[in-house]
Amino acid sequence: MLDDLIGEWARRYPPDTTPGRRYRGRFAPSPTGPLHAGSLVAALASWLDARAHGGDWLVRIDDLDSPRTVPGAADAILAALGACGLEADGEVVFQSRRHDAYRAAFARLRQAGLIYPCACTRREIADSVANATLRGRETIYPGTCRDGLRPGRMPRAWRVTVGNAQVAFRDRACGPVQSHLARASGDFVLLRADGQWAYQLAVVVDDADAGVTHVVRGADLLDSTARQIFLGRQLGYPCADYLHVPVVADAHGEKLSKQTGAAAIDLSPHGIARALDAAARHLLA
Ligand code: GLU
Repeated sequence: MLDDLIGEWARRYPPDTTPGRRYRGRFAPSPTGPLHAGSLVAALASWLDARAHGGDWLVRIDDLDSPRTVPGAADAILAALGACGLEADGEVVFQSRRHDAYRAAFARLRQAGLIYPCACTRREIADSVANATLRGRETIYPGTCRDGLRPGRMPRAWRVTVGNAQVAFRDRACGPVQSHLARASGDFVLLRADGQWAYQLAVVVDDADAGVTHVVRGADLLDSTARQIFLGRQLGYPCADYLHVPVVADAHGEKLSKQTGAAAIDLSPHGIARALDAAARHLLA
């Protein structure tokens, strides 16, 4: 079944043939619960794209956010991927073992004068921004600490300064995307108040270190892409190609997620066939 899908996928999303570039794609689940119908869609999309290009498909476990990590979930996800016939090329990478790489990237950005400490609490940020700077559910940081901490304030998080940066890219599914970061996110956090590396930094460093050329993932992450391209630019990394696929929604129109208790895929042969069929129909309907 998977083999038939590769051809269909290639017709829908024609492979690019940049000379001299070996395709490397990846699936990067957060181990906050088992593989479910929504995460299978992201896994299958990235796997199909890698296979359609004759490239490598890597798996990385995004287990940096330790409060959200569920013990046993990483193993369960890897077992479910294997049972579905989605085998990773090469070793699985765990973000929790890559602190040195994040620290080194952070140090380079700091040396370049692009990072500053921020003392603001979420509450203070929410109180200080006018409704005009609220975008969706995300608050745009107004830059309060950019020119130094006010007397008596302690650093909580560390932010990267976006200046007047504009990012433009063409998503292979969604088309042209443009973002003026000061208006879209403001200076964003790289090292969180709880001492954890932010997703935005880790993902950029990981993808570059693994030589990822193509990122295929759920459209809920489309909004993060401009920030990631910006960070990659500051670190001198080559820019990947992006393809964001529609996310699977529940009956209330909410993205299916482990946090909202999406059911694990039934790993009986019949359950797997049904789950793959549903994921393929979602992606190729
Ligand atoms: N770990 C992230 C998630 O599960 C995805 C990271 C990515 O694909 O960039 O939502």
